[in-house]
Amino acid sequence: MTANGATLMHSVPPQQGLLLGTLAAHAGLPRKPLLGTQTAEVSTPPALPNNAHVTPLFQTSVFDFDSISSGLEQVVGQGAYGYGRMGLPNAHELGAAVAALEGAEAGVATSSGMGAISAAILSTVSAGDLVIAQQDAYGGTTEFFRRDLPRYGVTVRFEDTNDLGHLEKLFFGPDSDSAPRAPTTAKTEPNLYDEGQSLQNGSEKGLRASTEVETCSCRCTCRDSQSGASTSEDSGLGGLMSGARGRARKVVIFAETVSNPLLMLSDVRALAKLAKRAGALLIVDNTFRTPLRSQPLAEGADLVIHSATKFLGGHHDLLAGAVVGSAMLVDPIRDFVKRMGLWAAPLDAWLAVRGIRTLQVRVEKAWANAATLGRQLEGDPRVTAVAWHEKVALVTFAVVGGFRGADAAVAAFRLITLSTTLGGVTTTVSHPASSSHASLSVAQRGELGISDGHLRLSVGIEESEDLWADLDRGLSAAAAVNRDRRAVI
Ligand SMILES: *Cc1c(COP(=O)(O)O)cnc(C)c1O
Repeated sequence: MTANGATLMHSVPPQQGLLLGTLAAHAGLPRKPLLGTQTAEVSTPPALPNNAHVTPLFQTSVFDFDSISSGLEQVVGQGAYGYGRMGLPNAHELGAAVAALEGAEAGVATSSGMGAISAAILSTVSAGDLVIAQQDAYGGTTEFFRRDLPRYGVTVRFEDTNDLGHLEKLFFGPDSDSAPRAPTTAKTEPNLYDEGQSLQNGSEKGLRASTEVETCSCRCTCRDSQSGASTSEDSGLGGLMSGARGRARKVVIFAETVSNPLLMLSDVRALAKLAKRAGALLIVDNTFRTPLRSQPLAEGADLVIHSATKFLGGHHDLLAGAVVGSAMLVDPIRDFVKRMGLWAAPLDAWLAVRGIRTLQVRVEKAWANAATLGRQLEGDPRVTAVAWHEKVALVTFAVVGGFRGADAAVAAFRLITLSTTLGGVTTTVSHPASSSHASLSVAQRGELGISDGHLRLSVGIEESEDLWADLDRGLSAAAAVNRDRRAVI
C-alpha cells in the first residue's frame, strides 16, 4: 500500500487470515494489504504524509475539493472526504478496526457507546416495532429504551434474556418447545413501556401471557418516568410477525454478552437461534467481553455494539463507540450516523485505534488479575457474594455491612478509584446501588440480586499482589464498620 492513495480496509475476517491479537496490534490503516483481506467498503483517505507509520490525527472539520466536479463526486458518495459530519479518516479507521476484530463486513464508529446503540436502534426500528431488551442492561441503554423509544411508538419490554425457556414462551407461547405456534392464554395487563396498548387480538397472546409481572418487576419506576406513548391501533405484542397497519412488525432483541453488575454470561448462540426462528434481529453489546473473548457475529448475532470508551480504548481518556455487522445492515446505520451527527470525533477515534493495538496484552493481564482476585474473594469471610469468570476483567462482590460497609471499603482503597466506568488500565470500582442502578428501588435491586453492599471492580493491569493488598484494606474497613455497628446495637 502506498502512502498516497491508501485505501481503508474495512473488513478482515479473522478466521481467514491473522489471529485476533495480531489483527488488534495492526489495528487501523494497513500499510500493506493484510492476509485474507476483503474490502467490504473502501474509502479513499487524503494523502498521508510520506510513509507515516501510523495514520495521523486528521483534526479537521473539512477537506477541500480541487474542483467543482471532485466536489460533486463527494456529494454522490464516491468516497472522497469533504464535510466532516459525513465522515472523517480517523473515525473510518476505528469503524474498520472494530469490524476487523469482530469478523464483520462493515463498521461505523460513533461518538460514544450510546451513540452506537441509539444509531443501531433508531435507524432500524419504526413506530409499531418491538424491542426486547435484557432486563439488567447497561444503565444508559435502559434509560434510552424506557424514556425515548416509547415516545416514538416503539414498544420496549425488559426480559430476562438469560432465561431461554422464558423467551421461548414469550415468542411462541406457553406450550412451545420448538416450532412457533399460536399461543393459548391471555393476560391483559398493560405493557409498562407501551402504555395505552391493550390486548385485543387472541392470536397475539404468547408474548403477553408469559411476560407477567416479573417482566417489569425490576423496572417499575419507569411507569412515572416514561412517556407512555402508544402505537395507536396495534396492541398485541404477540403479533410479532404482523404488526400495525398490516406492516410486518420488526422485533429487535438487545442483549449484552455479560450483564452488569452480576456478570451473567449470555448464550449468544441460543439467542441467535431463537431470534432467527422468531424473525427478530439480534443486537449484542460486546463491550464487557471484548472481541478477543467473544465473537457474537460468528455465533449468529446480526449486529455488534461496542463502547470503545471501555476496553477498546482502555485508558480512560476517550469516548467512542462502534456498530459492526453486515454491510447490508451497517450501511443504513452509517447513513443515519451522518444525518444525526453521530460520528466519532477525530482525536477520540485516533486514541481508540491506538488503544486497540494493545488490547490483547491489556485484557490478558486484566483477565489474569480478575481471576486471581475472584478466587481470593471467594474464600474470604468478609464478602457475602462473589461473581467472576475466566477471561472477564470484572469482579463483583458484596461486602458485609451494606451501604456503610461498601462506603468504608471504597474510602479505604488507595489504588482503586471510585469511577463510573470500566475497561481501563487502572483498577476502578463502582457501587451499583448508588450509580448504575440508583434509579431502582431497594426492592427492585433486591430482585435483581444487587444489595447495597455490592461493589463492581473493573480490574486493570497492575500487579495482582498490590490490588489484593488494596482490596484487603477495603474489606477490613467494611468488616470493622460492621463490627462497630453490631457493637452499638
Ligand atoms: C459504557 C457502556 C455503554 C455506553 O458507552 P458510552 O461510551 O459511555 O456511551 C454501553 N454498553 C455498555 C455495556 C457499557 O459498559
